[in-house]
Amino acid sequence: MSEESFPHIVVGSGPGGATTAHLLAQNGKDVLLLEEGSHHVGLESFSPQEMLHRYRNGGITATVGKPLVQYVEGRTLGGGSEINSGLYHRAPRSIVERWEADFGLLETDWENVCEQIESDLSVGPMTIPLSAASLKLAQGAESLGWQATEVPRWHKYHETGPGERQTMTRTYLKRAQETGRCKVETGQRVVGVSPIDGGWQIRTAQGRRWKTPHLFLCCGAVYTPFLLRTNGITRNVGDSLSLHPTVKVTALFPEEVNSRDMGVPVHQVKEFAPTMSFGCSISQPGHLALAGLDQPDLLRRVGAEWKRMAIYYVNVLGTSHGKIRTVPGSSDPAVSYTVTLRELRELALGLKRLCRLLLETGAQALFPSVTGQRPITSLTELENLPPVLTRQTARLMTVHLFGSCPSGEAPHCPVDSFGNLKGHSGLHIHDASLLCTAPGVNPQGTIMTMAYRNTMKFLEERG
Ligand SMILES: Cc1cc2nc3c(=O)[nH]c(=O)nc-3n(C[C@H](O)[C@H](O)[C@H](O)COP(=O)(O)OP(=O)(O)OC[C@H]3O[C@@H](n4cnc5c(N)ncnc54)[C@H](O)[C@@H]3O)c2cc1C
Repeated sequence: MSEESFPHIVVGSGPGGATTAHLLAQNGKDVLLLEEGSHHVGLESFSPQEMLHRYRNGGITATVGKPLVQYVEGRTLGGGSEINSGLYHRAPRSIVERWEADFGLLETDWENVCEQIESDLSVGPMTIPLSAASLKLAQGAESLGWQATEVPRWHKYHETGPGERQTMTRTYLKRAQETGRCKVETGQRVVGVSPIDGGWQIRTAQGRRWKTPHLFLCCGAVYTPFLLRTNGITRNVGDSLSLHPTVKVTALFPEEVNSRDMGVPVHQVKEFAPTMSFGCSISQPGHLALAGLDQPDLLRRVGAEWKRMAIYYVNVLGTSHGKIRTVPGSSDPAVSYTVTLRELRELALGLKRLCRLLLETGAQALFPSVTGQRPITSLTELENLPPVLTRQTARLMTVHLFGSCPSGEAPHCPVDSFGNLKGHSGLHIHDASLLCTAPGVNPQGTIMTMAYRNTMKFLEERG
């Protein structure tokens, strides 16, 4: 089988991989970008068709553990950036200081990198009318004296219409290809990574092979450690997955708050951040029906009353650690995560606070995603919510995974402060795996910041 050589190969085209490929190509380096998913055009955002084609396993994946945590990842050109809400945060300074102290992460003075990314991706406030469901969070927070913010997005708004989310295929991947130096191959799943002649040889499930002196793994927080472990690189790899455990509650209001073109809700309540945050999710009828799967009363009402309903969430700063492991005979990993009592307690407290806020804004009934929980219609009923969610009944999910190959100089970090896999020259990690712990905010901004800064360091050192 013939084997091509490339000076730089990036595996995975999500925010980490796209940022890396963009900077390499812009700086005159030839790069091959390999992506397992396809490039689907014309799919309606947040539709069932999109879930089928752009989500890994159609969005149905879960950790092993009790309670299990359902999680969602993109598997498409552009990775998670193509399916997410585009809500942007910088990493909170208090969290980054912890990364410096506990993980020995160096050179975190990255404000100029954040500014560059914000400019490149048109990060800013929403300039089209905000949805009524999202505004409920701001109203409720104001009346309780809690802090709420309108989170900026990577989005270009026009005078009419919804505008365009600035996904990786619309920004960094497009710009990388326009240089003529970045070749993109979709439908290629890398399964083999092995050292060869001072560099790296890679092999895909589709039977292609390449070699390179500089290999950047950007497959996300689950598939980067899985790929490494599959190929015998296991030291401190995939031992410390962190996430934001999330519990949802569906609210029914007396008036309409939802519509087919509701758009992305942008408000978040930050009064208790970074320990916990509240927000509003996309709440199309399909999402509401899924939320009602073990809430018969909710499910019965979705068809006729969905315009008066919206889904809200509490996410907490995950403090437990999950593991990513290979499974003999399987091409996918086993992902375990032990939800701690502390997390279950914080989720219960957060749920109580969020329900209080929603009742304050006039919600008539609240349906928490807790099996067997009766709908809550008053503050008195709210008092009966248990002080800790139980392992048997909590239905948890997350869209935020990170920390499976934490970055820093401390011995327990498999990757140094700049994305180099320790002990494996020429092998770099530039994705969500690098974050030392859960950041307590939507993570894509931080992932891109670290990938950007690491690529600049790589370029500086190699000229
Ligand atoms: C529904 C949803 C909503 C979200 N909303 C927000 C939000 O509003 N704001 C925010 O900041 N974050 C949000 N996130 C999280 C954010 O999208 C992710 O944190 C981010 O995409 C992770 O970037 P990454 O580069 O690490 O990996 P990914 O985006 O997961 O990209 C990895 C890519 O690598 C590919 N790949 C994996 N294995 C291989 C292999 N072996 N060979 C070749 N290719 C491979 C995958 O197909 C994928 O395309 C959301 C996520 C989801 C799912």
